[in-house]
Amino acid sequence: MSDKKYLTTASGAPVGDNQNSITAGHRGPTLIQDVHLLEKLAHFNRERVPERVVHAKGAGAHGYFEVTNDVSKYTKAAFLSEVGKKTPMFIRFSTVAGELGSADTVRDPRGFAVKFYTEEGNYDLVGNNTPIFFIRDAIKFPDFIHTQKRNPQTNLKDTNAVWDFWSLSPESLHQITYLHSDRGIPATLRHMNGYGSHTFKWVNKDGEAVWVKYHFISDQGVQGLDPEVADKIAGTNPDYHTEDLFNAIAEGNYPSWTLKVQIMPFEDAKTYRYDPFDVTKVWPHADYPLIEVGRMVLDRNPENYFAEVEQAALSPAHFVPGIEASPDKMLQGRLFAYSDAHRYRIGANHEALPINQAKSPVNNNQRDGQMRFDGNGGSAPNYEPNSFTDTPKETPENKISPFEVSGFADSVSYDSDDHYSQPRALFRDVMNDEERERLIQNFADHMSGVTREGIIERQLENFYKVDPELAEGIAAKLNTEVPAHLKK
Ligand code: NDP
Repeated sequence: MSDKKYLTTASGAPVGDNQNSITAGHRGPTLIQDVHLLEKLAHFNRERVPERVVHAKGAGAHGYFEVTNDVSKYTKAAFLSEVGKKTPMFIRFSTVAGELGSADTVRDPRGFAVKFYTEEGNYDLVGNNTPIFFIRDAIKFPDFIHTQKRNPQTNLKDTNAVWDFWSLSPESLHQITYLHSDRGIPATLRHMNGYGSHTFKWVNKDGEAVWVKYHFISDQGVQGLDPEVADKIAGTNPDYHTEDLFNAIAEGNYPSWTLKVQIMPFEDAKTYRYDPFDVTKVWPHADYPLIEVGRMVLDRNPENYFAEVEQAALSPAHFVPGIEASPDKMLQGRLFAYSDAHRYRIGANHEALPINQAKSPVNNNQRDGQMRFDGNGGSAPNYEPNSFTDTPKETPENKISPFEVSGFADSVSYDSDDHYSQPRALFRDVMNDEERERLIQNFADHMSGVTREGIIERQLENFYKVDPELAEGIAAKLNTEVPAHLKK
């Protein structure tokens, strides 16, 4: 064979002609014996894996995380153990509701999903660019996402469904206020913060636990896009954010974020004025100030989009010792749903794909399954307990930190129905006059598409409980009035 790189079939046979299929005679039909042609067409038909039901459109980058402040008194996580320690990481940014080819510059939360390749296995922090979420119990998630997707009859986006659901789910008020603010359409993926959103548990080497919330603060600053400009860009360059991120990194203009945490003493959770596990709430900074942890820098573009971004399987279930789940009901559902989505999309052995593979040893008794392309554990025993000394053993020091629970098994809501005080603080105390005006305009623009009776009134009532000025401002722009009984 030639020393030059030569074209082959998938089984390695040299290909003689990649331009002309084999035909019976010069003008005759194509022969089934052209196995290269058959393989080429058949593989092409199988190029797509199912797109993610949510967060389908994404952009990814590699980088590193460096610890800049000692937090070892709060967590024994090895990758956070000392100042100066660097850990390779990968991030996938995404929109939530659109399909794989949808436009980047839409009003939608952005996924902010970070995979840290630590020496104790992968730690994934699968957050968003908003510190809160629309709902607080995973049981509502499929219904919620149905309203964000397409109408079952028309296959069109359905503004009635969106506002019907939100108006009947007032816990969404905080998130939709954030979403319709200037932050709802980020200028670029580099100009937005990331939040773990949920509360997590950190445990130190003495077994002492605290509750923690993560904030990745953009070193580029937070900047939004004017909605009219965003609409135009969506039409002219739907991949605007993806392109901006790729080009910035390619040009050596590496984006970075400072990771900060809020730490809540374990016992505070019982009496804190907000349920700390309710993902529709933040912890006000005045109660739990931000503590710096480190810096995340993105300095390498993926070499291959499908291999590294489409096949990236991030999951909130990927913990390392020293970081654990909280009882947040939304998080608890996600612990199952994310890995399950990847099993469906890219198979039972997706953790072994290069982008997902831990950089520390992976030893367990999981065997077989589709696309097992490593040694499948070789001749080693595949069960436990066993009497072999050289098989992987449990490490009791890595058991979860125990916590007490009590009460009845029941389907119950969170204790508090205060869906109003935190969006009120955002509207009244954080936003200035111009931001409030733009928020009101953005809400009115979106709600102007609602035609189904009762939805606008119900939502104005919700807004009124946040702040009368918000409800009245939106009502005026919609040429209506807030329901009369509210003013009494
Ligand atoms: P603070 O005044 O201490 O913090 C307000 C925070 O809001 C800022 O630190 C900033 O957080 C964020 N922010 C600033 N401008 C805007 C904006 N235009 N739109 C959205 N967020 C903005 O008050 P509290 O901590 O008591 O929070 C008050 C309200 O601020 C909350 O109810 C919540 O809606 C919002 N908020 C609070 C956060 C928190 O974790 N406490 C985080 C983000 C928003 P950042 O530096 O993270 O951008």
